[in-house]
Amino acid sequence: MNEAFLMKMLSNLNSKPDDLWCKVLYSKYGRNNDLSIAIQSQPYDSSLWKALAGIWGEFQRNIVWKIGDGLRTNFWMDKWNSNNISLITVGTQSYIDTTLNVKDVTNDSGNWNTDFLFHNLPENIANKVIALPAPIEADGSDNIGWGRTSTQQFSVKSAYNSLLRNQFNVERDWKVLWRWRGPHRIQTFMWLVAHGRILTNYCRSRWGKGISPTCPCCGNADETVIHVLRDCRHASQVWTRLVSPNFITNFFSFVDCKEWVFKNLGKSWNGVINSRWQTTFMTTCWHLWTWRNKAIFEEGFQRPDNPTYVIQKFIMSIEEVSQDQLKNNPHQRKTVYIGWKRPSNGWVKLNCDGVCKGKGDLAGCGEILRQSDGRWIKGFSRKIGARDALHAEMCGLYLGLDMAWSEGLSHVIVESDSKVLIDMLTNNCKINGTIPSLVRRIKEIL
Ligand SMILES: [Zn+2]
Repeated sequence: MNEAFLMKMLSNLNSKPDDLWCKVLYSKYGRNNDLSIAIQSQPYDSSLWKALAGIWGEFQRNIVWKIGDGLRTNFWMDKWNSNNISLITVGTQSYIDTTLNVKDVTNDSGNWNTDFLFHNLPENIANKVIALPAPIEADGSDNIGWGRTSTQQFSVKSAYNSLLRNQFNVERDWKVLWRWRGPHRIQTFMWLVAHGRILTNYCRSRWGKGISPTCPCCGNADETVIHVLRDCRHASQVWTRLVSPNFITNFFSFVDCKEWVFKNLGKSWNGVINSRWQTTFMTTCWHLWTWRNKAIFEEGFQRPDNPTYVIQKFIMSIEEVSQDQLKNNPHQRKTVYIGWKRPSNGWVKLNCDGVCKGKGDLAGCGEILRQSDGRWIKGFSRKIGARDALHAEMCGLYLGLDMAWSEGLSHVIVESDSKVLIDMLTNNCKINGTIPSLVRRIKEIL
């Protein structure tokens, strides 16, 4: 509901820019950008503006352009024709210039460039385009309308319904991801990708000052998730050899990363090599990200000369394993959906975790306290001295309990994923030698 109202504000920002509150917001955060094209926020902007920027992508999917002079509307990407689709999804040529605006597709005398239209679009679509009046200056600039109502006027109800439908779609799509038979680390990686949570330079630059958002591999664009996994030349070179030619235009046309991921997780596409497209897609994304990291962090690392060969070999090994599992014991692997559950009234829950990289060169832990209504009380994540995984888990639990104690909390439920540690604390296992001092301290706090 909240998001539907945020969309209403976005709609008003565009349709009533002279209202006082719109002027205030725009002059403070607008940075002279065209708000009907994108809204961007900086880390120090107000939470309202950040929320508006966050919902922008969803809002944009629902808008349609009303053509005036044709200068602000992107010919291929925006929805502006009577079919309510982006024309890029129906383009008939493999080369598409996505910088064209609608005005660019008219000739010198101001009429539609019919040669271009019939060459690049299916006949029925091209016919629908030329049925529209060609853009002229006298009509003023292009405007946006709301695509979810017949009047193109925004309504909160229609926005709410569109958000609701998306939620159901997403639920269904996640199952496709979790049902995949392959390494868990690739599944969780894809989950992060769909949420835009892998640490690209663009993402890092929004958190901290002085970090460049530029792609370290090509230096040509901001390193967003979709850039590093699809548009950077290292990635696009690989994809053009894997995606079947029928889908290639479509594949590169998605602007929203989540949509791109879900479209590729679905069954409707296939690739050049003989395996399920979902597997090829996930495995390739994961390799691209791994190679990008190695290129940055590992001195002397060389990207493979034949990346598609490496990926294909990897896919074959995944498929062999999953077939073996099916043959030996078809019921062996069961997916269990887990999630955080609220503690009962009057209790708080402490979740803690510790991780350790390699042979203990780097370790960190995190802990978070939440109330019975799910609200955040306090949390930390921190680097700790290099030790081992168990030590990191102990640190997490100890610091978390210490935090709860200093907050004066007495009814605490603790969740940890380290069975060894819990067994040590509940005297379920024998400890050889001296009891680790952190275990002793944890017991004291308990
Ligand atoms: Zn790049």
